[in-house]
Amino acid sequence: MRALLKLLTVSVLFMPALLSQDKPPADVRFSANLLDKSIDPCNDFYAYACGKWTAQNPIPADHSSWGRFNELQERGQYIVRDILEKASIDRSGRTASEQKIGDYYASCMDEAAIEKAGPKPLEQDLHSIAAITSREELPLEIVRLHREGADVLFGFDSGSDFKNASQIIAEVDQGGLGMPDRDYYFKDDEKSVELRKKYVEHVAKMFVLLGDNEAKAAAEAKVVMEIETGLAKGALDQTSRRDPQKIYHKLTDKELAALSPAFNWSSYFEGVGAPRFDSLNVVEPDFIRNMQAVLSAHSLDDWKTYLRWHTVHANTPVLPAAFVNENFDFFGKTMTGAKELRPRWKRCVSYTNNGLGDLVGQVYVQQTFGAEGKERTLSMVGALERALGQDIKNLPWMGADTKAQALVKLQAITNRIGYTDKWRDYSALQIVRGDALGNSQRANQNDMRRRLNKIGKPLDKRDWEYPPMTVNANYDPTQNNITFPAGILQPPFYDNQADDAMNFGGIGAVIGHELTHGFDDEGSQFDAAGNLRDWWTASDKKQFEERTGCIRDQYANFVAVDDLKLNGKLTLGENTADNGGLRIAYMALLNTFAGKEPAPIDGLSAEQRFFLGWANVWCENRTDAFSRMLVTIDPHSPSKYRVNGTVSNMPEFHEAYHCPATAPMVNQKACRVW
Ligand SMILES: [Zn+2]
Repeated sequence: MRALLKLLTVSVLFMPALLSQDKPPADVRFSANLLDKSIDPCNDFYAYACGKWTAQNPIPADHSSWGRFNELQERGQYIVRDILEKASIDRSGRTASEQKIGDYYASCMDEAAIEKAGPKPLEQDLHSIAAITSREELPLEIVRLHREGADVLFGFDSGSDFKNASQIIAEVDQGGLGMPDRDYYFKDDEKSVELRKKYVEHVAKMFVLLGDNEAKAAAEAKVVMEIETGLAKGALDQTSRRDPQKIYHKLTDKELAALSPAFNWSSYFEGVGAPRFDSLNVVEPDFIRNMQAVLSAHSLDDWKTYLRWHTVHANTPVLPAAFVNENFDFFGKTMTGAKELRPRWKRCVSYTNNGLGDLVGQVYVQQTFGAEGKERTLSMVGALERALGQDIKNLPWMGADTKAQALVKLQAITNRIGYTDKWRDYSALQIVRGDALGNSQRANQNDMRRRLNKIGKPLDKRDWEYPPMTVNANYDPTQNNITFPAGILQPPFYDNQADDAMNFGGIGAVIGHELTHGFDDEGSQFDAAGNLRDWWTASDKKQFEERTGCIRDQYANFVAVDDLKLNGKLTLGENTADNGGLRIAYMALLNTFAGKEPAPIDGLSAEQRFFLGWANVWCENRTDAFSRMLVTIDPHSPSKYRVNGTVSNMPEFHEAYHCPATAPMVNQKACRVW
């Protein structure tokens, strides 16, 4: 015991020298000084509210975008670094959790050891691939790679049964691509063609780093591109994937086997350790049917080349600098327009959050999130739910039957605030200091086991998809619940020093946004219990589609970058949620007045400040390359349109800022669903 005390003391004495001293960016609270008074809010509200911020906050070299979200994320990273650095001090008396998160982070930070090892940690994987002598061995090799976290050939997971939402079933999905989306393989504009050329060059360079000569590497990269393009042919685009009818196909295991006899599914399912099942959701049967053709079209050697590429690709973060830099050159610089690699510590914080999120999260919430934060958020959610109920009751276009169903669904929404009541279990996971690559592979194995163990069991609503330091929020239509992690319940979203108007425009509208997702083009197809079931009368559905059509067409005319316009259909759910969320937050704010208008602050009325609260959370700069990428894969509109698109549909905004009827911020054909 005495030795322990001494060791601890020594460690504590060393701590200040080991802990980083640089500080996170200060939080800029909203003030009227941030407004660009040279701009008329009725001409361009986003520029009026955010112009100064965007001018004063250029994109840091290691980012492809920089906005208020990033500031918050950045502050969270400093908090987590502090937690991880303290835990990483090798001393006796560390708890099992401290040992895991501390050694995981320290192994990632130990660049010297990673350099010294070179590509050696990959050897076992690469040997295993090289040793395959027949196609029959492919399923078990794919098992191994899936468990280690590589995305090869297809995806396998557990998920809600759309038509029996209380049950978790197995799910086979599209997968196996190196680029972010199937569209990257087919778009024929000049920029996309160029990007594909650079991708093939990148794959070749990674093979060279593995030790292949240039001619061989170039040939291998060509094979990878052919296989991935073949797989992409059968994959659904992002817009179609938002349609639940298109991604739910409950088949028996025999029906799955018939779709692609070239792949031995039972050998895969057994190898991966999935509980027995006889039916599953084959998310996209066409993908599996097409996969059969791609499997047959390529030689076993081609497949081994493809697996080799994905092995190195999946493990890049913990390989030597030459791999990391080459990966950044394509996926960071070329694809998103970032100029510099993020500092190592930030990459290792993200990497630890990804691998051991709930262990880090437990310390994070102890340090940052009190009972008060939870109570205030819940009371705000209550105010927003009441406003949405009021809104539904008064809708002129919806009939009584559908309204009754909508109100049942609203009542049934459950709220998850701050952090989960059931942390993930890492007790079986072994983290070894100095084995960065092995650690992340074991963490992935542990996580896949956790997800697959749910198959055949009832849904456990305490399972969160992401850890509490995440700066985000979501609505899940299959669970009919909203989730607000501790990470987002801070300024500029929620500020306990700000007035109600700012907070209702910030976190209030975000809560409204998530609630509205239950009633957007996708969420409205699920009922109160989370089942995919039509609860609408035909005529109300028609009215709904006319109104969402208005939003689709409005946003399809907004330009993201150069002459590239937004995809109105892909962004429809988010735009509907932005518009509905802002409106019900506005109603909820008026309810707090109880007939007495608050006094102006800084010469701004409460109504004006409400809309500024909304704009304030979206201030952001983006590189052109990143804007281009997001148009293809992001269901959200760029910040400027999240602000200007919504306010231009609201007479309440026009009144607050005294906008003439002809002003650019007045949408002549104002769209309104909720
Ligand atoms: Zn959303």
